[in-house]
Amino acid sequence: MGQCFDRAKAQVGIDEAMLLTTQLLGVSFTELYTERARLLSLADVEKLDSAVQRRCGGEPIAYITGYKMFRTLRLRVSPDVLIPRFETELLVDVVLDVSSDRSRVLDLGTGSGAIAIALSKTKELQVVAVDNDERALQVCAENCKEHEAKVEMVRSNWFENVRGRFDTIVSNPPYVAADDQHLDEGDLRFEPPAALVGGHSGLEHLEEIISSAMRFLNPSGWLVVEHGYDQQASVKKLFSDRGYANIQQRRDYTDTPRVMWGQALGR
Ligand code: GLN
Repeated sequence: MGQCFDRAKAQVGIDEAMLLTTQLLGVSFTELYTERARLLSLADVEKLDSAVQRRCGGEPIAYITGYKMFRTLRLRVSPDVLIPRFETELLVDVVLDVSSDRSRVLDLGTGSGAIAIALSKTKELQVVAVDNDERALQVCAENCKEHEAKVEMVRSNWFENVRGRFDTIVSNPPYVAADDQHLDEGDLRFEPPAALVGGHSGLEHLEEIISSAMRFLNPSGWLVVEHGYDQQASVKKLFSDRGYANIQQRRDYTDTPRVMWGQALGR
């Protein structure tokens, strides 16, 4: 383990070491201080050692522990799904704002189910969650069960197998450009490329979703999407070219343009 603390190469911060310890040994942060005399079993030491080695190899903490917090939910994650991001919590806020009780809401590309489950646990909504990857839907199903969330799951490539209309459609689609160097950095190296890459431009899936959503929205329904740090103008143009009204945007906690939504009017 010693080599991990080589200053030049250090990948495991003290906060991360504490997180790994609490998550993997099932102790609270308080117990780290109050139970300092507790002896670890050999199995526990081996578990921690293997976790630190994995973290030294750059693997995201969430894949090592198998969990990530999203709003108030502790969600199961695996390398088959994107690790839910803090900024994606903003999408949930916007959907909650624009959707009244009992609205029918579609979450496209649900992955771990983060958005869909957070929505269904916060408001009385009829939530349908779509993903094209069977393994992602299994993770979503586990999370729904764990949190007793009533979410209908559909395997579908975007709208392909989606039936009916919705009051709100939300999506955090893959939007990173195929040649973006960030894909070779940090957590992104370990996440499923299919959940990250939006074709050559990064905008391919956003374009498809923004174009097609109109046919699946009820009159006055909203489409809410997350987009990349440099895609605000392009996404705004997609919304306005496709006839959405009342287009609005929100920046994330790092002041980066991140969420856009628009309304389908007049049909
Ligand atoms: N926000 C993620 C990132 O850039 C990308 C997620 C996505 O493509 N939807 O790290």
